[in-house]
Amino acid sequence: MSREHELSTALAATRERVARAARAAGRDPAELTLVVVTKFFPASDVRALAGLGVRDVGENRDQEAGAKAAELSDLPDLHWHFVGQLQTNKVRSVVRYARAVHSVDRARLAQALGRAAEQAGRDVGCFVQVDLAPALGLEPDAARAGAAGEDVLRVADAVAAHPGLRLRGLMAVAPRGVDPARAFAELARTAERVRRVHPGARELSAGMSGDLEQAVAAGATHLRVGSAILGSRPGAR
Ligand SMILES: *Cc1c(COP(=O)(O)O)cnc(C)c1O
Repeated sequence: MSREHELSTALAATRERVARAARAAGRDPAELTLVVVTKFFPASDVRALAGLGVRDVGENRDQEAGAKAAELSDLPDLHWHFVGQLQTNKVRSVVRYARAVHSVDRARLAQALGRAAEQAGRDVGCFVQVDLAPALGLEPDAARAGAAGEDVLRVADAVAAHPGLRLRGLMAVAPRGVDPARAFAELARTAERVRRVHPGARELSAGMSGDLEQAVAAGATHLRVGSAILGSRPGAR
């Protein structure tokens, strides 16, 4: 089977899964954006996916994302979503290609992104990444990304305060060892609290290859799906 055929088959199966999950939740599939996470896979795969109608692609490392975006700059309709942990010294690079950043988890990062976006004359959509673990009673883990508790609103405030940024909503990864339905219900509750202050923050980036159904049921608008479409990542962690 050619790579194009392989991708086409897996993409169709994933789109069908998303449509089925939407129907089961009484939602319109048209309100869901499938972000295909292409990290570790070559730009040629992204090009093939674009040929199959994919517009939204996700990456988690600036160096890799920037190189692919440059190589594919002839595809003007491609929207790059940055979904990985982001250091402030990378923001100037990221705002050059990213239409949205799903991993804004510190006010300081929001401020740096905002300044870089303004300088570059770009409008960057932001999702505040939430660490759901504390609210679910899990052990703290210093390496885990995301804001928790009152910090979620503080980061949202910092995004909303910046003219170069647009606060789109919240993002989370369901912690390991927890029922994803329970994790995403907690995310939905957090989103409700944020919307009392920022009514425009209506979007929810949640759900990956293994738990997109539970995310759709909980109100996700952006599904970040990698391995179900591209296969298992080389040297996957
Ligand atoms: C890699 C990644 C995904 C995609 O995960 P799959 O399980 O391969 O679908 C989604 N979100 C983030 C933040 C990722 O880093």
